[in-house]
Amino acid sequence: MTTMEEAEKLLRPGRMLIGDEWIEKGSGGEYVHINPSTGQPHPPIPLGGAEEVDRAVKAARAAQPAWRGMPADARRDALLRLAALMRENADELATLNALDTGSPKKNGLGAVLSGAEHFTYFAGWVDKVGGEVIPTWPAPALDYTIMEPYGVVGVIIPWNAVMHNIGQVIGAALAAGNCLLFKPPELAPFTALRFGELVLEAGIPPGVVNIVPGGPEGGKALVAHPGIDKIHFIGSGATARQIMASAAETLKPLTFELGGKSANIIFADADLQMAAIYSAFLPMANAGQGCLLPTRLLVEDSVYDQVVEMVIGITKSMVLGEPFAEETAIGPVINAQAAERILGMIDQAKAEGSGRLVTGGKRLGGELANGYFIEPTVFVDVDNSSYIAQHEVFGPVLAVIRFKDEAEAVALANDTQFGLAAYLHTNDLKRAHRVVAQLEAGMVNVNGFTGIFPGAPFGGVKQSGFGRMGGRHGLEDFMRPKNVYIPLT
Ligand code: NAD
Repeated sequence: MTTMEEAEKLLRPGRMLIGDEWIEKGSGGEYVHINPSTGQPHPPIPLGGAEEVDRAVKAARAAQPAWRGMPADARRDALLRLAALMRENADELATLNALDTGSPKKNGLGAVLSGAEHFTYFAGWVDKVGGEVIPTWPAPALDYTIMEPYGVVGVIIPWNAVMHNIGQVIGAALAAGNCLLFKPPELAPFTALRFGELVLEAGIPPGVVNIVPGGPEGGKALVAHPGIDKIHFIGSGATARQIMASAAETLKPLTFELGGKSANIIFADADLQMAAIYSAFLPMANAGQGCLLPTRLLVEDSVYDQVVEMVIGITKSMVLGEPFAEETAIGPVINAQAAERILGMIDQAKAEGSGRLVTGGKRLGGELANGYFIEPTVFVDVDNSSYIAQHEVFGPVLAVIRFKDEAEAVALANDTQFGLAAYLHTNDLKRAHRVVAQLEAGMVNVNGFTGIFPGAPFGGVKQSGFGRMGGRHGLEDFMRPKNVYIPLT
């Protein structure tokens, strides 16, 4: 078992990768990352500003023709080598992720392997994706399409699932033939920087992937740069609005993967015990810091008390702790500001009185007092129109809502600005398909959820975003068709 002390020996001062150069100072100053489990500072990282963004864009543009023109088998094999290196170094990457975010190491391991699976999956497309031949008339002609990369893509991701997001986004962008400027989140920099070392070790040519850590200022410079051909953003709706406004200046295409407040419907005919286990654990995964987590639990009237009792019992049994302890189910939230915001939202929900707080609601003291640990929190009898049911908390808080029939369940599930995921539990096959068709969400999980598969499209509707990651849709999000017309007479 790793200890915190052993893990922290892996940390080195942060750097940025531009071309094949590792740069130790940035024009955006530096950022001192705080270990969320202990509240102690880590070595500083340089923050990129407009200067480094410009250099990275130039490096990416210089590398682009060769990367795009590389024979498909060579590009495929480079991505497969990177996937293999991610697996070989999974233990170290998961340890760094635990230092970055406080997330239990075993969960981080899953995210690293998922990232590697995405690279393997997208590598498989490199030698298969092609264009099409278009029927023409009346004169004979050849009309065909070529699928081309955008060129240089700007990638901005949040801190909560770094290696998984890297696989979803960077795997697809590179497979499609793009070069990129990747801005890892300042709140979780160390895993992403180690990934950068693996990129070069895999033999991916310098300049194809440039990594410039930064905060909002670095992100703004990236979005505004005219040498970036497309932005792929994962993060909050508030930041997405700023990016959309700024991208309007250069009319950049955007893909947005944003927040959620996903409904989880338990019908009376479901396997109630299984449903309760999923419904209690999933919202608290990663301390509730996941875009797709089912944080609004809708339970049918006739089984409401029974399900609520099981969910509360399971929630109370969850062990909070530091990320390297075997028994830890839930780690801290990302930082002091997040803890304050989450506790503020809990207080507001209590003051509003739209639901009853039945467990949790406090920050932990005792041995964990220096970290940002918040008890798994459940509100029951919540009104769906209330503050706690309508806002993304991004913390370990579940809102439980009662419904009387299928029509009301669907109406409540859809009564939100978000539309990322939805969940339902029923043993009635016809009902399952009927309800799936009516739910306004990018993904629906029926009777359980075990992870995001690389071949499945992932993304939201409504204010959860647009565009897809994963699968052919995720690959094509990084390509555009060029049409070629040749008259044959
Ligand atoms: P955030 O929007 O604050 O930050 C995300 C990234 O944007 C960070 O790298 C940040 O440095 C950068 N940034 C901040 N301001 C910027 C600006 N003005 N211009 C350019 N970049 C800027 O989000 P967060 O709090 O880090 O992450 C949590 C949010 O992300 C939640 O809403 C969550 O649901 C969402 N999320 C969505 C998905 C998905 O796939 N749909 C996945 C993970 C997280």
